Amino acid sequence: MLQPVALAQKHLADYASIVGRPLVDEIRERAERLAGKRVLHVSATSFGGGVSEILSTLVPLMVDAGLSCEWHVIYGREEFFNATKLMHNALQGSDEDLSEEQWQTWLRYNEINARELSTDWDVCVIHDPQPAALASLVLEKARKWVWRCHIDLSTPNHATLERLRPYLDPYDASVFHMSQYVPAGMDGTAHIVPPAIDPLAPKNMAFSPEDAVYICQQFGIDIDRPLLCQVSRFDPWKDPLGVIDAYRLVTDEMPEVQLALVGSMATDDPEGWDYFNATVAHADGDPDIHIFNNLNNVGAIEVNAFQSHSDVVLQKSTREGFGLTVTEAIWKARPVIGGAVGGIPLQITDAETGFLVSTVDQCAQRALEILGDPALGNRLGRAGKEAVRRRFLMPRLLRDWLELFEYVEV
Ligand code: UDP
Repeated sequence: MLQPVALAQKHLADYASIVGRPLVDEIRERAERLAGKRVLHVSATSFGGGVSEILSTLVPLMVDAGLSCEWHVIYGREEFFNATKLMHNALQGSDEDLSEEQWQTWLRYNEINARELSTDWDVCVIHDPQPAALASLVLEKARKWVWRCHIDLSTPNHATLERLRPYLDPYDASVFHMSQYVPAGMDGTAHIVPPAIDPLAPKNMAFSPEDAVYICQQFGIDIDRPLLCQVSRFDPWKDPLGVIDAYRLVTDEMPEVQLALVGSMATDDPEGWDYFNATVAHADGDPDIHIFNNLNNVGAIEVNAFQSHSDVVLQKSTREGFGLTVTEAIWKARPVIGGAVGGIPLQITDAETGFLVSTVDQCAQRALEILGDPALGNRLGRAGKEAVRRRFLMPRLLRDWLELFEYVEV
């Protein structure tokens, strides 16, 4: 019942000129020592959000490097995803813990998936809390288990984390984006590996300005007026309402500015629709606020076009595990204004490679500064792009995974 995800073909060799030959050579050397190892990645969804974004490139590159790697998506129904969304929010700090019944639902679906999980893996990498109980339920199905946590556990709901903890104990290693996210008592198995983007994926490949303009125009953007944009799920922690408020402050001084909010609806995020509707209501019919989702045909190419064409890209999150959208926009050499939370300060050095903000007011002020001085935006964007090249492109992530596999003796 776990669904294998169909993989695209990706070739490590294609990345050499972007990240440099030495890194690609190092990956080949490490991969040789792991040739043929059976690696399974398990996640909750194959579409929408950062985890699927990463796996859709990482897994094909592991295959290209010579590992026998697959990606399976767990089975779940609405009651399960309602429980796991609550768990996700609680682990990132919301007060509401799961009810006893919801914990049982979570466990019951993990049991179903555990029974269906195929066997004989050298290493099973479990992504995020949704399938986290698998290791404790069927430890014998893989020789090593790794838990890859993509969320910010720095200020968790303690009741939720404590209840989850026994299920994390059987893992040979756990992987976090940043050391601040490692819960007390897990330091022994924890490894720090920030995520990365695929510079050759349709979402990130270089576009000509004309192509970006053409696409934005199809979606009703006036390409002769400045554009602010935020790409992210419709979620309170991504603060789309705050983005609209900041845009309104900007338009008080520059009425010609437009805003695009681009947000995909993930299958494991039932709350998304409520917040989408709240965002539309907050926009209050303003014709210069454009709200899109993947159901309006906004896919990877369109996200790329919006990020590439925007004068300023916002990621005004108030909580953020890492923020791949920040990496994506910086890689396009755009000036990015990000909330000073979670993984965003790891990516933006304030006033050097973008701006960090904590309030709607600051966000609006920084946007006005960039809009009033395009050279500033270009400078921030160029500096940011080189930082991303060094630290946040997929081959670096692949290297880190191979290193970890060797470390845990896969
Ligand atoms: N994304 C997308 N379409 C959208 C909104 C988001 O493809 O309409 C992608 C976005 O480009 C990024 C990922 O979903 O690659 C979101 O990852 P991030 O780490 O920013 O946030 P998460 O959703 O994992 O909290």
